[in-house]
Amino acid sequence: MTKKKFYVTTPIYYVNDVPETPKGLADRVVVRFKDLWESLNISNDDFIRTTEERHKKAVAELFKIVQEKGDIYKGMYEDWYCTPCESFFTELQLVNGKCPDCGRPVEKLKEESYFFKMSKYQDALLKFYEENPDFIQPVTRRNEIISFVKGGLKDLSISRTSFKWGIPVPGDERHVIYVWFDALTNYLTAAGFPDNKERFNKYWPADLMLYMSGLMH
Ligand SMILES: [Zn+2]
Repeated sequence: MTKKKFYVTTPIYYVNDVPETPKGLADRVVVRFKDLWESLNISNDDFIRTTEERHKKAVAELFKIVQEKGDIYKGMYEDWYCTPCESFFTELQLVNGKCPDCGRPVEKLKEESYFFKMSKYQDALLKFYEENPDFIQPVTRRNEIISFVKGGLKDLSISRTSFKWGIPVPGDERHVIYVWFDALTNYLTAAGFPDNKERFNKYWPADLMLYMSGLMH
């Protein structure tokens, strides 16, 4: 008898910590997450890292699909920048107007960036949440997200030129695809996107997907 499929994801684990080479740090942190599941006596069918080749391929493929649909354009990204940390921060992330990581002063900087036309999807998302009241749970989070979307969705900056750690934009390798398009796509990769269509059609969409609330920032 074939079992009915049920695809449940964990949240995405972040490996932010003290600066070291990014890959070296990730290699050490990832072991701790794997150990955690073992000590909880919970098994999993797959464990994906965003540094894997299958994931790089999925992100590049998704980028191309969205670009071909006309939902990606090149523009200028402007935000608060900390030079020693080589990082951009939003106004909300600043602590007393200073860098949240090192406490030094920040300055307004601009860089070229690719943008996803997220604003275009505001009404469609609100309609979807209304028609599918159980899609986001619990209700408190649902309300939080609805009021966030109603507050106005801005187009999302999805690339950076200020660092190299990450997956290059197809056809424009000065740009690295930023976290939104890279990390979140791992749910698709694990389900088999783009090459394993049989696996993908079986498991996608996920039955239960877990998020870290920090992603809303
Ligand atoms: Zn800093």
